[in-house]
Amino acid sequence: MEFRYKYVDKIPEPEVAADARLGKAIHAALEAALGGMGLGEALKRGRKDLVHDEEQARFDELSVAVSKFAERIEGFRARRRVQRELVEHRLAVDASFMPTGFNSRDAFFRGVWDVGFVYDNGALAVVDHKTGARRALAEYADQLQGYATLAAAHLAQVKKFWLGVHFVVDAAVEWSEPMLPENVRSVLIPRAMEQIEQAARLVSEGYGPRPSGWCKRCSYRSICPETRDGGEATPTSLAQ
Ligand code: SF4
Repeated sequence: MEFRYKYVDKIPEPEVAADARLGKAIHAALEAALGGMGLGEALKRGRKDLVHDEEQARFDELSVAVSKFAERIEGFRARRRVQRELVEHRLAVDASFMPTGFNSRDAFFRGVWDVGFVYDNGALAVVDHKTGARRALAEYADQLQGYATLAAAHLAQVKKFWLGVHFVVDAAVEWSEPMLPENVRSVLIPRAMEQIEQAARLVSEGYGPRPSGWCKRCSYRSICPETRDGGEATPTSLAQ
């Protein structure tokens, strides 16, 4: 339903949930640090939009994890031959899964990587930061596979895709099994097409709220029928 509010009905976000604000702040700090800004400045940039003491305190706790990740990447750069670094990298494909501009009218499927590294041996590693509670890697499979689909279209030279999740709170990165371009073409693209068509059908049928763990971070809680009266997503509704 958040997708519908944001992209179909184009309703401006009525509020940004505290968890989402903190997540954005940490993402901004990581983006700045990975983009070459000094760590102190990067943390200041991330923290600047947080106005509540409690959020600032949580940000300061997580700052340790930001610096650990930045150090880890520094070590990694020293050990590996990285050809390109793609931070907050936006990609899109058209309905034939050919590369197109992120804001193009024919963009059919879009994604934004938090950070990607193209090695000179033809491998690509993409990492997505998660600031919420750690979950099983399998829960992010669709998102990671979507990144592989976009990468296969845009980076034809890539021979192997490594996809990982950085769990900021634990300062840990987990990797899924590496994928080959032929797997992306034969399995992931048909699956992505099916999911996109299903989403389009739901939009045209006027689908209702589908509560999930994401509701806690959703910016449309104040207008969504599931949560607007102060309710929380229930186990029953989570099973919908
Ligand atoms: S609160 Fe949950 S169900 Fe409602 S719009 Fe947000 S994510 Fe969807």
